[in-house]
Amino acid sequence: MAPEGPAGEERETLRTLLDSLRLRLALSERPERYFRYGKDEVGGDTERHPSFETPKAEGETLEEIAAEAARCSLCPLHATRTSVVFGEGNPRARLVFVGEAPGADEDRQGRPFVGRAGQLLTRIIEAMKLKREDVYICNILKCRPPGNRDPRGEEIAACEPYLMRQLAAIGPEVICALGTFAARTLLKTEAPITVLRGRFHSYQGVPLMPTYHPAYLLRNPEAKKQVWEDVRKIMEVLKDKKGVRM
Ligand code: SF4
Repeated sequence: MAPEGPAGEERETLRTLLDSLRLRLALSERPERYFRYGKDEVGGDTERHPSFETPKAEGETLEEIAAEAARCSLCPLHATRTSVVFGEGNPRARLVFVGEAPGADEDRQGRPFVGRAGQLLTRIIEAMKLKREDVYICNILKCRPPGNRDPRGEEIAACEPYLMRQLAAIGPEVICALGTFAARTLLKTEAPITVLRGRFHSYQGVPLMPTYHPAYLLRNPEAKKQVWEDVRKIMEVLKDKKGVRM
């Protein structure tokens, strides 16, 4: 059992510091493993990053990354969170949904997309003739910004390596970025979601479809038609690839 009191706190601080140093060392030694490169559009050449081809080659599992994130204090959000919402779903999912950040319900339950917007995402997934357990769902930030404010640049910069490692471990065939922050973070662009959505982009050679966030759909139900157009394109790519993992 871990010691409690000052000794336990000291140990926890040292462990967090060690995690932070390990992460920074990994980023400096193997940047290609964490940082995107490649084409802007899905075209004829969609060469995949080796870490996507052999996601387990490095021996890093989602559980290991999640355990690290569970102790994370790399950004100020660790001080106000109830839970670290790492993500959930099929660890070998062909399709990964990436949202923005946990909300109040997610923070309480420690699970992504469980509030009203999450229920709408579940209905979208089911309309694709899939189940939540078939896909993987996560966010750019693993901890809730207080009051559901927008994520800040330094928080995204601190948290993004977890997402990169998550995606490398899963090795999806298609990624769906939900909303502005997810699309902009993954594609390294400032373009608005209205411009980005509706067509595939490339994230390390993996087709990435940006679409509206379900929370936006709750406020603007007329946009559901466009989201349905986007997810139909995802379904077509998955059908063409005829993968067996989902
Ligand atoms: S949001 Fe990400 S970087 Fe910030 S404390 Fe949580 S897990 Fe760490």
